[in-house]
Amino acid sequence: MMKQTSYDVAVIGGGPGGYAAALYCARSGFSVIVLEQLSPGGQMATTGQVDNYPGFEEGIDGFELGEKMQKGAERFGAETAFVSVKSAELTGDIKKITTSKGEIEARAVILATGASPRELGLQREKELRGRGVAYCATCDGMRYRDKTVVVVGGGNSAAADALYLAKICKKVYLVHRRDSLRASKIYMDPLIDSGIEFVWNSRVTEIHGDKKVTGVTVASLDGPAKEISCEAVFVAVGRIPDTELFRGQVDLDGTGYIIADETTKTNLPGVFAVGDVRTKPLRQIVTAAADGAVASRFIEEYFA
Ligand code: NAP
Repeated sequence: MMKQTSYDVAVIGGGPGGYAAALYCARSGFSVIVLEQLSPGGQMATTGQVDNYPGFEEGIDGFELGEKMQKGAERFGAETAFVSVKSAELTGDIKKITTSKGEIEARAVILATGASPRELGLQREKELRGRGVAYCATCDGMRYRDKTVVVVGGGNSAAADALYLAKICKKVYLVHRRDSLRASKIYMDPLIDSGIEFVWNSRVTEIHGDKKVTGVTVASLDGPAKEISCEAVFVAVGRIPDTELFRGQVDLDGTGYIIADETTKTNLPGVFAVGDVRTKPLRQIVTAAADGAVASRFIEEYFA
């Protein structure tokens, strides 16, 4: 719960960007609240093994890293409220945020809401979500241990998900609409030896199953459509920024990301955007955390 109704800084979203910002702002002596709807860590918390955040020679579980980031910020006085944000009035000098547990005011707001998985947009996708349709391999993969699964996508998420699932599932198909992945090099060698069956130049056009997923139809650009029997479809086709709450106040780019440069400043005075929700060339935990530090620096300047 919120201890006060008024803070210097309100951070919306408790991922690495949000908690890094909270840590830096709290260390600078500001009163800070982080508003998080689920659990600390955000999208990072759904990653089983994080190997590309410096300081952990064995890597670290993403959920654990989220908790550590929360505790690190709270050590300097930042608070966390597990609430969902219903609306935010960001244009005035005093920003007003309505949450599921009441209203708060803040002199500055840091938008750190990240992004959610993009759906394929197929007919049965929503109905079968949680019954074979999944968006997070490390969260749901174990349910399909020793089963056959299909991963859709060609980026880092699809590559990481397929590799993770290949260790626990009987058979993994990776369906991608091109003839090569755009995933980082680090994934390529392990993919070659993984036993994953690649289905190139293809799209999943139908998900089958009444009460649970039983298979998919895959349409190929260079051959006939085929059916793949499977118990699960892991959709990893990118993310959509969680910015709908701020639309109309904060400037967004054509794909919905908040327009903010390396200063993290948005078009609104006293409103900053950090992490995956911001326009940026590389979305990683370390770049989100870096944004948090930068936002704090420009908040100090804004308050001066
Ligand atoms: P992404 O890099 O945007 O890749 C999305 C993939 O899905 C692309 O291959 C895209 O195809 C495909 N796709 C998009 N819409 C589709 C549709 N409707 N139907 C079929 N395929 C579709 O997304 P991501 O892999 O989720 O990664 C998101 C961000 O997180 C990236 O910045 C990524 O680097 C980062 N990330 C990093 C790591 C890591 O470093 N370990 C792990 C996970 C994620 P096209 O190639 O044809 O566009």
